[in-house]
Amino acid sequence: MSALLVAACVALPVCSTFAVAAESNADQSNTVNSQNKKLPRIVVLATGGTISGTADARSAIGYNSGERTGQQLLKDVPGIGKFATITAEQVSNVGSQDMNDGIWFQLAKRIDEIFDRGEADGVVITHGTDTMEETAFFLKNVLHSRRPVVLVGSMRPGGVVGADGPNNLLEAVEVAASPQSQGRGVMVVMNDTIHDPRWLTKTNTTSVQTLLSPNAGPTGFVDPASIRFVTPVTDSRQSPYTLPAAGQLPRVDIVYAHSNMDASQIDHAVADNAKGIVIAGVGDGDVSKAALAAMERAAKMGIVVVRASRVGTGFVNRNVEVDDDKSGFVASLDLNPQKARVLTQLLIANGITTPAKVQQAFSATY
Ligand code: GLU
Repeated sequence: MSALLVAACVALPVCSTFAVAAESNADQSNTVNSQNKKLPRIVVLATGGTISGTADARSAIGYNSGERTGQQLLKDVPGIGKFATITAEQVSNVGSQDMNDGIWFQLAKRIDEIFDRGEADGVVITHGTDTMEETAFFLKNVLHSRRPVVLVGSMRPGGVVGADGPNNLLEAVEVAASPQSQGRGVMVVMNDTIHDPRWLTKTNTTSVQTLLSPNAGPTGFVDPASIRFVTPVTDSRQSPYTLPAAGQLPRVDIVYAHSNMDASQIDHAVADNAKGIVIAGVGDGDVSKAALAAMERAAKMGIVVVRASRVGTGFVNRNVEVDDDKSGFVASLDLNPQKARVLTQLLIANGITTPAKVQQAFSATY
């Protein structure tokens, strides 16, 4: 008999709190081993995504994202209670293409509160895979604590053959609850691998092996019986960035470069009052001469201009085919355009806008 406890929701406007507590089944008891040690406490913050989706009859592969709650997801994972005492809260229920500053700020605030109040030893966030890298990178840069926060999703919705959500969720809880994870801060767990948000990106539209870290490789491996980190805990600093009180990050646009490119997209971003522009440049972050001239005009106006690349792997280095020093640009190094955008937003929000200072922040290993 399952003992599913329902508790009052205190912290979030859109949430219900449940606890997967001691089940009569020994496998899911509240104690971790024969020494009767207390299990770690994990809070699952559910935001939606395919992992919360259910198959839809409209086509063989159709489904609706964000239909099931975090509490329902936990019920689908036999044995998950052996890793932790788990509480689920519903933060949102959206496909991650609809992820926004409001949900980000809500997540950051709630996670800081959970750790400040000692409510849990780790947090798991269920999330769509499309923009998971951006949410993970945002949280890595703003959370106060370096306690484990594990984002997890799935490529296949619940109820279909080979659904990957239940195993991914099991492994996410396992990682968040592990003493090995303390001090590692924000991580992503998908398909038996553990990733650092700095390196992680979505690389395939449909495969379960989609979230990879092409420049660095995973930080670890997980299966239902073991966790193996292959990188040390390197950084225990607190985030240097604070969130703007206004509840919204400044506007930073991404402009995608292509052959036969003119200046119009960059000029539009300037006219639309973007405070920063990230170029998803060709190759090593390059653009046409016309676009380059528009970027220089923008930089002269005090807009932060970052050169990233539309190529999925590698680094964008300074002063290769473009004279960044002279033009006042920033090179994104390893950060892809979507993560370069997040960092640029946080920097502008924290008053860091000069090219040298912005470049310094991009170069930091944090
Ligand atoms: N668009 C959905 C999302 O990001 C589907 C992708 C997924 O969750 O895997 O939420």
